[in-house]
Amino acid sequence: VGDSADFDSETKSICPFCGVGCQISLKVKDGRVKYVEGINGPANEGRLCVKGRFGFDYIHHPHRLTKPLIRREDAPAKGLNVDPGNWSKHFREAEWDEAMDFAAKGLKGRGREVAGFGSAKCTNEEAYLFQKLIRQGFGHNNVDHCTRLCHASSVSALIENVGSGAVTATFNEIENADVAIIIGANPVENHPVAATYFKQFTKRGGKLIVMDPRGQGMKRFATHMLQFRPGADVSMLNAIMHTIVEEKLYDQQYIDAYTENWEAEKAHLADFSPEKMEGICGIPAETLREVARTFAGAKSAMIFWGMGVSQHIHGTDNSRCLISLALMCGQVGRPGAGLHPLRGQNNVQGASDAGLVPMFLPDYQSVTDEGVRNAFTEVWESGDFSRKPGLTVTEIMDDVHAGNIKAMYILGENPAMSDPDVEHARDALAKLDHLVVQDIFLTETANYADVILPASAFAEKSGTVTNTNRQVQLARAALPPMGDAREDWIITIDLANRLGLGWSYDSPADVFAEMKLNMRSLDNITWERLETEGAVTYPSLSPTDPGQPIVFGDGFPRPEGRARFTPASIIAPDDVPDEEYPMILTTGRQLEHWHTGSMTRRSSVLDAVEPEANCSLHPSTLRKLGVAPGEHVRLTTKRGSISIMARADRAVAPDMVFLPFAFVEAAANILTNPAIDPYGKIPEFKFSAVKVEADNAK
Ligand code: SF4
Repeated sequence: VGDSADFDSETKSICPFCGVGCQISLKVKDGRVKYVEGINGPANEGRLCVKGRFGFDYIHHPHRLTKPLIRREDAPAKGLNVDPGNWSKHFREAEWDEAMDFAAKGLKGRGREVAGFGSAKCTNEEAYLFQKLIRQGFGHNNVDHCTRLCHASSVSALIENVGSGAVTATFNEIENADVAIIIGANPVENHPVAATYFKQFTKRGGKLIVMDPRGQGMKRFATHMLQFRPGADVSMLNAIMHTIVEEKLYDQQYIDAYTENWEAEKAHLADFSPEKMEGICGIPAETLREVARTFAGAKSAMIFWGMGVSQHIHGTDNSRCLISLALMCGQVGRPGAGLHPLRGQNNVQGASDAGLVPMFLPDYQSVTDEGVRNAFTEVWESGDFSRKPGLTVTEIMDDVHAGNIKAMYILGENPAMSDPDVEHARDALAKLDHLVVQDIFLTETANYADVILPASAFAEKSGTVTNTNRQVQLARAALPPMGDAREDWIITIDLANRLGLGWSYDSPADVFAEMKLNMRSLDNITWERLETEGAVTYPSLSPTDPGQPIVFGDGFPRPEGRARFTPASIIAPDDVPDEEYPMILTTGRQLEHWHTGSMTRRSSVLDAVEPEANCSLHPSTLRKLGVAPGEHVRLTTKRGSISIMARADRAVAPDMVFLPFAFVEAAANILTNPAIDPYGKIPEFKFSAVKVEADNAK
């Protein structure tokens, strides 16, 4: 590894993978990142996981796009048919000027026919510019990003009931808690550095309640493990709350002072006794009662949740239950208490804050509010745009099929891998008459592009990113972009100007200054502070306040300062097992791979550890199928079928299959259900009826 003298430069930045937002030092020698070290950021205190420490050499991968590409006139028909290392049959290299003119010409003046997907992997400034380009340039709100596929339902429940979509307390606050619930999240694999804090909490005697249909990595640290039936969250949580009401374990003083709709919630819960619910959720009534007493008896308690909660057609209801549980016990707004949806991508919090969603402008200000729109058009020096909330990720694809959307600008997203029922999304991409893709690799989505704009990897650009803790942190460029590639914010500004928008920014700091004009969350946070302090948590109450790790100690940003109880009823999953599809498919991530795999599968260490597409099944299920671990199974749902290597895993229930979604050769989303939650519009990735068979052909 060596010491400082062995490197040409060392640059502080932020890990580009998960929402923990670990601070890192990039050590560069001869124009290449040679080594990454964890440094003392507020979320990681020097710690890193395997992705942060070893998952960086994709930056220098030979597949990096270094020149703009334009689709050849004689290219084969659009499809998932381009070799990212050998694309010359499909695309030709172009100079920037030609490529940008071509990109702009296909979008200009097309208004409602254009839609945009930005990225949670870009900086706050890039997210802000992207949503501004769609709204100002095309007059509508058809702009979204992958928050729609991860925590949109959590955000919708949080905004509805506590008035803000972000966490009420940092995950590090667990050090002040005596009880914590982790539900539908697998932090050991997906937020590994946060998991180290959770493990420390249990070491010093904290009671950990893990609720998950899979017996995942935190199980061995748990005082209570509730391996409930997939999709049965509401029945289980309502039964726990029923007990708290029945045994009068709630905090009446807190409820009176800070909440509304309590009587309706109480009445609603009467129907959900543990004895009645145990048959639905699969957890014995006595365990449900014991967990209720443990949580309600805590001095300070936190609730953490992940996509196991959010990715359901009842994802918003699941989150409503968690919010109600915390409120009735007065577990918000104090040290060691709070609600914390563990955000997935490194900047999904920041991209959402910056307005990269179809219903909100920056800081979750509604597009339907004329005063809000006026405030933005004044700063943007532009005309008004639609007051109608735009379409979401999956709705945009439907609208392409309907023939209304005909052109798209996609920055750093990969819907050809990440959308549910992905063949539907791929067909939509193929139908577009003009697709502009801006990325660092020729992704599956770029296969369908008319023009590809080579962009910057995280180590090649500067800007702010906001982690799951609401910590705004400064990422800094350690290298120039590879070849002729450019920083994303520069490309978006160039495109805006070719669309006639007349933008003028000299730096990301310039963009950040504009964001601050209409984002109160950034009050007291300046670029200069970030340069010296590295991170400031919002809200920050003064120019010297490092920020508030805990919010809502004295009321909520809602009418009369009161949070709301919103009762939730049981809704069955959309695609339930039957004779033909008797098992349950659930999808997720693995420790070594990140989302659609475009970066981690090109990281030599990570790919060497986990090189092959795989799914996990209980050993007894494999025995019944006559399949040995390492052999292939065929998974079939109503949407499609894949063949994939099977692993034995006792953590998976005998009637379930767990399927990671990073592998294009066995793409999980060929199988998943596009049915969406009506509030958050998030697809039900966590539950599909599936048929599993031995695949003897492999
Ligand atoms: Fe990166 Fe997340 Fe791992 Fe930290 S925990 S090193 S942010 S992937």
